[in-house]
Amino acid sequence: MQIKVVENVLAANDAIAAQNRETLKRSGVIALNVMGSPGAGKTSLVEQTIRLLGQRLRPAVIEGDIATRYDAERVAALGAPVVHIATGGECHLDAPMVGQGLANLDLANADVVLIENVGNLVCPAEYDLGETAKVVVTSVPEGDDKVEKYPLMFRIADAVVINKLDTMPSFTYDLDRVRARLLDLNPNAVSFALSCATGQGLDAWAEWVAARAAT
Ligand code: MG
Ligand code: ZN
Repeated sequence: MQIKVVENVLAANDAIAAQNRETLKRSGVIALNVMGSPGAGKTSLVEQTIRLLGQRLRPAVIEGDIATRYDAERVAALGAPVVHIATGGECHLDAPMVGQGLANLDLANADVVLIENVGNLVCPAEYDLGETAKVVVTSVPEGDDKVEKYPLMFRIADAVVINKLDTMPSFTYDLDRVRARLLDLNPNAVSFALSCATGQGLDAWAEWVAARAAT
């Protein structure tokens, strides 16, 4: 019975995800579902994406958090429209939450919606939000075994961002190993090694986002 309940929840989620996808398509807006563990740098990536692309594209943001508005406030400080979703304890965003978020954004005046998911490498992978692409942020201090330890998350990713490259001297992190494991698991994922702190590698990421928005 437990399995049946979970299946029903996911089926209901997928129906609303399809509506979100239709809303985005009708509005000519792309949405990136930014996932990753707490502290990987999801908010920093959202901030840097707004800084780099804010002159070329009109970004809007949906910030999901279990508690606090800290991330939403950081993004709002950059001048981007932001909707904060307090998940009330839920450890992931689902399609109805994102549907509410989209309904509260002016999509006619947006090109890309950056959705920051709750920090978690497990269940966000199971929820289709109707997004255009799934982005997973991992970082050097987390260790180079995350692709192997959380295979579902990395298998469903369209793009993997390896953040905090500037901290490499302080950690034992085999970037080649991470890329090789990712290639084994998900050869279609594009990866970007970068540092939101120093800006290294961010241009390639921004160009990928811009190219997605142009299609
Ligand atoms: Mg954050
Ligand atoms: Zn969850």
